[in-house]
Amino acid sequence: MTEAPVLRVEGLKKHFPIFKGIIPRLAGFVYAVDGLSFEIGRGETLGLVGESGCGKSTAGRTLLKLLEPTAGSIHLNGEEITGLDRNAMLPYRQKMQMIYQDPYASLNPRMTAGDIVGEPLIIHNVATGQDYRDRVASLFHRVGLRPDQMDLYPHEFSGGQRQRIGIARALALSPALIVGDEPVSALDVSIQAQIINLMMDLQEEFQLSYLFVAHDLAVVEHISHRVAVMYLGRIVEMTDKKSLFEMPLHPYTEALLSAVPIPKSGARHRRRVIVKGDVPSPINPPPGCHFHTRCMYATARCRVESPVLREVLPGHLAACHLHDGGVRFPLEVGAERS
Ligand code: SF4
Repeated sequence: MTEAPVLRVEGLKKHFPIFKGIIPRLAGFVYAVDGLSFEIGRGETLGLVGESGCGKSTAGRTLLKLLEPTAGSIHLNGEEITGLDRNAMLPYRQKMQMIYQDPYASLNPRMTAGDIVGEPLIIHNVATGQDYRDRVASLFHRVGLRPDQMDLYPHEFSGGQRQRIGIARALALSPALIVGDEPVSALDVSIQAQIINLMMDLQEEFQLSYLFVAHDLAVVEHISHRVAVMYLGRIVEMTDKKSLFEMPLHPYTEALLSAVPIPKSGARHRRRVIVKGDVPSPINPPPGCHFHTRCMYATARCRVESPVLREVLPGHLAACHLHDGGVRFPLEVGAERS
């Protein structure tokens, strides 16, 4: 029997209602997450990339049920958790943890580092007394901190050390899945590499599964096995990282990649693509293909018909009408090579 994926998400939506007026009335919705489907296997990292405002952080929070989904389903280790209330979620909470972007803002400044790391053990009644102290000390050691730093407060640590505290806390309950919400973007580049290498070592040691939310493609390329590209609440392309970086099949991915230096994997079809304007508002996303207002290849069909995310090449999904009728983007579509 094949092992169930650690996480399976189908048709996940998170729409935030907007109320207006003195007597509040519903005036619309923010379509932050609008129908995501993907899986993450044991020991696998899925990178989730896109510009700010595309819904990737909301997606991470929703699949952890820190936000209630509007629609869709979430399965953890084969068990559906979508409709569970706070109490019923408790045993599953232990298996799903989050690492936040800002290691300073996410740590309680009035708690010692040891208490921050050990708090989940207390909340879930996992350890007390000497066992508790030993477990916290071991977590400190595992993330590259000294156990004698347990009694220090967050402001006494550097940014990288604070992120190590956040990682140790996330590890405390031996999770299966960790969502990293831009976990290195607030850190200096040299420290970013240390934290990413730590996360990769921990993944190998504990067979952790990661959803790694980021806007930095170089970071995503380094840590991910597969990558999903999000635009205005939807996944527009998803495949293994080599295929994505070497041969993007969606114009938005091509534009994102063209804005960063040539990656180490090499891009056979890299050319300069300028995307017009800003990301439209998720309150009123463009009809048809959400990307049509900025896409250099858009046709009349793109303005009215929403493309479906489908397998264009084996294991390589893209949502773009250019792939209908045998057109192979980007090889057969004219564009200036830089
Ligand atoms: Fe561009 Fe049309 Fe493809 Fe959307 S469907 S990415 S607008 S070519």
